Amino acid sequence: MVVSFQFYAELNDFLPRHKRQVTINYDLKERASIKDTIEALGVPHPEVCCIEVNGEYVDFSYIVKDGDTINVYPISATPQTTTITSVAVGTPEIICFVLDVHLGKLATSLRLLGFDTLYRNDYGDEELARISSSESRILLTRDCGLLMRSIVTYGYYVRHTDPQQQIVEVMRRFDLSKLVSPFLRCLRCNGLLETVEKELIVDQLPETVREQMYDFHRCQSCGQIYWQGSHYQKLQQFISEVLEVKK
Ligand SMILES: [Zn+2]
Repeated sequence: MVVSFQFYAELNDFLPRHKRQVTINYDLKERASIKDTIEALGVPHPEVCCIEVNGEYVDFSYIVKDGDTINVYPISATPQTTTITSVAVGTPEIICFVLDVHLGKLATSLRLLGFDTLYRNDYGDEELARISSSESRILLTRDCGLLMRSIVTYGYYVRHTDPQQQIVEVMRRFDLSKLVSPFLRCLRCNGLLETVEKELIVDQLPETVREQMYDFHRCQSCGQIYWQGSHYQKLQQFISEVLEVKK
């Protein structure tokens, strides 16, 4: 049973070089759903927005038939017609994330911009998939196999390896610039920050800070204290740079 596939736009990132941007003739040995067939070719299902088979739109449960001509589109290249059936579930109502163990710097940047971001350097794959599924969090990862787990609905494969480019990439993909709310979350633990009177925490401050700073925030979860020192200015500059690149 031979079927032909065409993958559009950034879905080609998941294919070996010689299969990119060309029609792929795929020899199917046994009965399979289109979801499993697409993943067998290397493309994780959360990256797929819609699937057209012989001119009709189908969902993931469609069973592939001999001679099918299949077009697979990501969100960025979805054809603009009103009759389309999307397999993509879009994004969760409230944007929040869970990140794999390789994305620690990206996690810090997302928290800095105010996004609810779970990250631990000892999360296992199963746990990441479970958290993403049960809490409707977008799973950001550099592991395609993790995205292919069937319980993962919201997920995205981060293309860049450089953390500065990663944050720009994720902001573009999920259109985050309007949702930015800096200094809302603790960079260490994702907890929410609250303003705190200086006299309550004065004994915890370094001497220079004690003399020069007046406005403080404290993490409601871990107690970490934040003030608007040089660290704050560097962070603020980073945020404006990220937003500048976005334009
Ligand atoms: Zn904290």
